[in-house]
Amino acid sequence: MSHPVVFIGAGPGAADLITVRGARRLAEAEVVLFDALTDPGLRELAPRARWVDVGKRGFCHATGQTRINALLVKFAALGLRVVRLKGGDPSVFGRLEEELQALAAEGHTAEIVPGITAAIAAAAATQRPLTRRGSGRSVSLTTAMTRTGELQATRTADTEVFYMAGRQLAALSHRLRGAGWAPDTPVCVVSRAGCVDQLSSDHSVATLMEASVLHTGRPAVVAVGVGARALPGATPTARAGLQAPCRVESPARPVKTPSP
Ligand code: SAH
Repeated sequence: MSHPVVFIGAGPGAADLITVRGARRLAEAEVVLFDALTDPGLRELAPRARWVDVGKRGFCHATGQTRINALLVKFAALGLRVVRLKGGDPSVFGRLEEELQALAAEGHTAEIVPGITAAIAAAAATQRPLTRRGSGRSVSLTTAMTRTGELQATRTADTEVFYMAGRQLAALSHRLRGAGWAPDTPVCVVSRAGCVDQLSSDHSVATLMEASVLHTGRPAVVAVGVGARALPGATPTARAGLQAPCRVESPARPVKTPSP
């Protein structure tokens, strides 16, 4: 009998942010198909498995995805214990639907183990709750890129967290204003959230372009609105066991928040 293919959310980058269930399933794997954004330290959890890098960076997306689907089906058909390891959570901007459909079409089953998505890791890194009692009732996880690679901003929630906008922060500033966000709305950019070298910076919708240089080449999320605001009385000093709230006054100044 074939085993279900296990999709595991690896979390935002640091190996110790995978769930206990994810680590257990990984330890049982014979083949692991992994993405570029996952921590190499995770390999220690499945040292005997065959690790196959299917990172799509630098590839044409369509070709890359077709190849991944084919590999999943191929290994599942061999009766191997297959893990598909994805950055963050598999259900958030993870092309999960395509991979599930490819497996189902060939009669293979799947299990999904959730992970910590980048927006949640960023909220923890900056100690800024995504929801705020009375003022922040809704959160939207939004991609800044359309399927055709166009930048798009929206205003659909009290706090909107944009993924995949890191390379176009100046343009995002304009689009946010176009979408109805006031120029002085708080914006917090967090790159490599959850990792030892995580960085965050504070801006407003009008000054977001300042963040471009600081976060160049790093995966980043952009929180806009109520949940991007620092808590009153937050201090930039780290206390034992806590990560420092990141506060960068304009003009942008990086704050490295130590990992626990
Ligand atoms: N499934 C992933 C998202 C994949 S899309 C998740 O749940 O987090 C890739 C985008 O995720 C990147 O462009 C970036 O916007 C965001 N991202 C991934 N890892 C990140 C990290 N450690 N810190 C900040 N943003 C990150």
